[in-house]
Amino acid sequence: MIDGHMQQQGFNLISILQHAANAHGDTEVITNSVEGGRHSISYKAMYRRTAQLANALQELGMKQGDRIGTMAWNTWRHLECWYAIGGSGAVCHTLNPRLFADQIDFIVNHAEDRFLFVDISFVPVIAAVIDRLPTLECVVVMTDAEHMPDTSTLTVPVHCYEDLIANRASEFQWPDIDENGASSLCYTSGTTGNPKGVMYSHRSNVIHSLATCGSDLFNLTARDTCLMIVPMFHANSWGLAFSAPMIGSKLVLPGPHMDGASIHSLITEEQCTTSAAVPTVWTGLLDYMDAEGKSIPSLKETVIGGSAVPRSMIEKFDKTYGVDVIHAWGMTEMSPLGTMNRPLAFMSSLTDAERMDIRCKQGRAPYGVELKIVDDDGNRLPHDGDAFGRLLVRGHWVIERYYKQEESALDADGWFDTGDVANIDQYGFMQITDRSKDIIKSGGEWISSVDIENTAMGHPELQIAACIGVKHAKWEERPLLLAVKKPGCNPEKQNVLDHIAAEFAKWQVPDDVVFIDDMPLTATGKIDKKPLRAEFENYYLQ
Ligand code: ADP
Repeated sequence: MIDGHMQQQGFNLISILQHAANAHGDTEVITNSVEGGRHSISYKAMYRRTAQLANALQELGMKQGDRIGTMAWNTWRHLECWYAIGGSGAVCHTLNPRLFADQIDFIVNHAEDRFLFVDISFVPVIAAVIDRLPTLECVVVMTDAEHMPDTSTLTVPVHCYEDLIANRASEFQWPDIDENGASSLCYTSGTTGNPKGVMYSHRSNVIHSLATCGSDLFNLTARDTCLMIVPMFHANSWGLAFSAPMIGSKLVLPGPHMDGASIHSLITEEQCTTSAAVPTVWTGLLDYMDAEGKSIPSLKETVIGGSAVPRSMIEKFDKTYGVDVIHAWGMTEMSPLGTMNRPLAFMSSLTDAERMDIRCKQGRAPYGVELKIVDDDGNRLPHDGDAFGRLLVRGHWVIERYYKQEESALDADGWFDTGDVANIDQYGFMQITDRSKDIIKSGGEWISSVDIENTAMGHPELQIAACIGVKHAKWEERPLLLAVKKPGCNPEKQNVLDHIAAEFAKWQVPDDVVFIDDMPLTATGKIDKKPLRAEFENYYLQ
């Protein structure tokens, strides 16, 4: 075969910020800062500071391949860390501050992080475990001298971020790095077993961003203002920390302020046109706007994923606030984007209700991701919208093996088992019916906990609901609904069950509802069914 005669430039992350600085230099990155107040910086200035940071890291002795941790909110400084660390050939390891101390300890030791960048709010979190982190050589507190907290509990050398980068050269000789070299590391939250590390490469991140900024995915343009709520410490911030600068969108970052009122003021004051976050964040915004009679006219659309988006949320955004909800599905192991739900041409002739049925699905896979569903023996199932089975994926930005694991995470044909159960319709729209460990088996029949939850959350007096399978003497397992009431509401159990019964076969309807005060959430803001199962396992046996 004849070789192609085109240039062979390896992908690297720093080229994204360089492009943003050159082509969109005056476009701003706005942050609701950790210290308080709104901060603004241009891509041009941010690139210079990133070079200053890279110079500082070099002086601290950072080497290519080193893992450098960050425990930080979405801020301009956190972006500078991502680009300076990755651009220098080291690995930026994002730590989720909501994890338990034991998990943080496990992850930092597993990654062997040498330095740690932390926001002022997380100094106590690190101080609590620092004696158990033998590989840690220093901590950089991401603030200026004026806001430095007491760091006497940190038993390693401590630097103040702004002092560290001050008076450094604002140019840096970025090394020529292999595009397949590691750029960033993110651990899954470990809802089953110990957290597992997913190591992204420059290549996988750049390709993921090139693909996902397109109009049938994140639909980013240089005219857009993107409110990136999805945390940089969770699932690679859905790639937006790369794709927004790549396209030159103005970027707006919430820092630690993710309550409804703060998000509302950011959207309206910065005229955000698009956004991305998990459903729980949007519940907070919708409740706030409903209560205060507010609106968000600048926001055209928002991408929602991470857990299933209830139909009621899509309808509310659409009908009350004029915002298009784009349902998305993915996972840390997929960089994270797997599917997004944008309409196809034929859908314009459907009724609103028919279109809504499709919009509630998790969406179609773009070029770069292949999907298939299989039965328990690994046989492919048809794409007819009915048959459901284990969802397997393959593609350019899908994991091959977990960090420090010898064995591949794939089957012999290169497919990765997502742990989700799904159907795929004739148009390629995929719908998650459950996580394989959450599916409820009642008398040999399967019941989708996700479907029941989505319907329950459409009840006007419920805040949030979880459906779990609990032991049953006759049927092996039966569904039980656990629900949190909306403030000031007092729905009857039977009324909630009737609401579900209107859409489900009788045997699929939960046998009972238990109202709880708070819904346990995982470190990534999803319903945590583990403690619920432990508490209610024998509920129907008593
Ligand atoms: P963690 O398990 O740490 O929360 P991920 O964010 O990687 O990490 O979780 C990925 C999982 O989240 C998927 O395998 C799927 O079960 C669930 N998920 C993501 N998006 C959706 C969605 N739109 N609908 C239903 N489930 C989703």
